[in-house]
Amino acid sequence: MARFSFDLQARDGNARAGVLDFHNAGMAATEIHSAGMASYGNPQRENPSAPQELIVETPVFMPVGTRGTVKALSQQDLEELGYNLILGNTYHLYLRPGTKVLNDFGGLKNFMSWPRALLTDSGGYQAFSLSKLTKYRDDGVLFRSHIDGSAHLFSPSSVLDIQAAIGSDIVMPIDDCAPYPADSARLRESLKRTHDWLRASKEYWQKSGYDKTQSLFGIVQGGADASLRIESAEYCAALDLPGYSIGGLSVGEKNEEFRVALNAALSALPQEKPRYLMGVGSIPEILDAVAAGVDMFDCVLPTRNARNGQVFTSTGKVNLRNEKHASDTRPIDEACECKICRRYSVGYIRHLHKTQELLAYSLSTYHNLYFMKKFMADMRIAIQAGNFEDYYSEWMAVY
Ligand SMILES: [Zn+2]
Repeated sequence: MARFSFDLQARDGNARAGVLDFHNAGMAATEIHSAGMASYGNPQRENPSAPQELIVETPVFMPVGTRGTVKALSQQDLEELGYNLILGNTYHLYLRPGTKVLNDFGGLKNFMSWPRALLTDSGGYQAFSLSKLTKYRDDGVLFRSHIDGSAHLFSPSSVLDIQAAIGSDIVMPIDDCAPYPADSARLRESLKRTHDWLRASKEYWQKSGYDKTQSLFGIVQGGADASLRIESAEYCAALDLPGYSIGGLSVGEKNEEFRVALNAALSALPQEKPRYLMGVGSIPEILDAVAAGVDMFDCVLPTRNARNGQVFTSTGKVNLRNEKHASDTRPIDEACECKICRRYSVGYIRHLHKTQELLAYSLSTYHNLYFMKKFMADMRIAIQAGNFEDYYSEWMAVY
């Protein structure tokens, strides 16, 4: 009962080009939006509807909209950039604005006026990494809010209820991501818990009827251990879910360990379902992961780095704060056709960063997300043309 269909269109080695078709999700978003209008009815408010076709071409990069906003950009900007799928963080949205406000608005899409597709994580990872007093128990993750210290439990059912209030199209189950490095006992414990919780999540997802409107992914864990990765992927695959995530990678392991663990996980996942590598998004990591057969990515790097004055260009990363850009009248990237590069000089954007002007953040973020969109789109073209290996080497030489 997945709310999207996934079609693999081309393969080049293990690299894949496909399409996620969210047609039904788009329709539902429009309906919810109209229904929501009545409750806070502002006749002057623009009521954007979902595009007739809501297609996401893979490999895809998803911008991170942690608290219902991709920092420094408007939803109009994201639409203009061509993003049809963004990510929200359950932990943050659960604490603020909270499920009552989200329910009152008919979900996050209504609340933030985003009629396109939305994916949410389970919140478990942030509950673990952001709060000080976290306890993994067999029934879930007990944590204290990093805002007011209040105690909460994220369980297999509660994180699905929260994601139902958010109204995301793709939802994640709670999992136990072992830190790196972890001994084999801890990895084994993480795997058992992740699998037990996934089974409970699938049962609850179906029992609650969430399976009719939201697609649940299984999460593969297993640290840097190839045999545990395979075991975990086989367990997830046997539950026959709409898609699969790979968690717990790019947490400090060596490049070689990253590749081995990733390839092991992918080898045991079905070809016809989308594969999502959670939280990974440097240029070399994306190239390696696409080479291994990953379809979906999210990462804060392009947006966070942009706010810190680091932009991605066709010739590598550029630090805008650098003195040498002070009188540079050229754009950030002469090869970039984004509206920022067509209009503003790197010297001016550097000045905005040095003086901490707010415009610095939106101009730099817009450019970086344009870069990512084009980087992924060109990669997809290379896969379709059977040129992925060349594409891989060209970019690896630059990044
Ligand atoms: Zn640009």
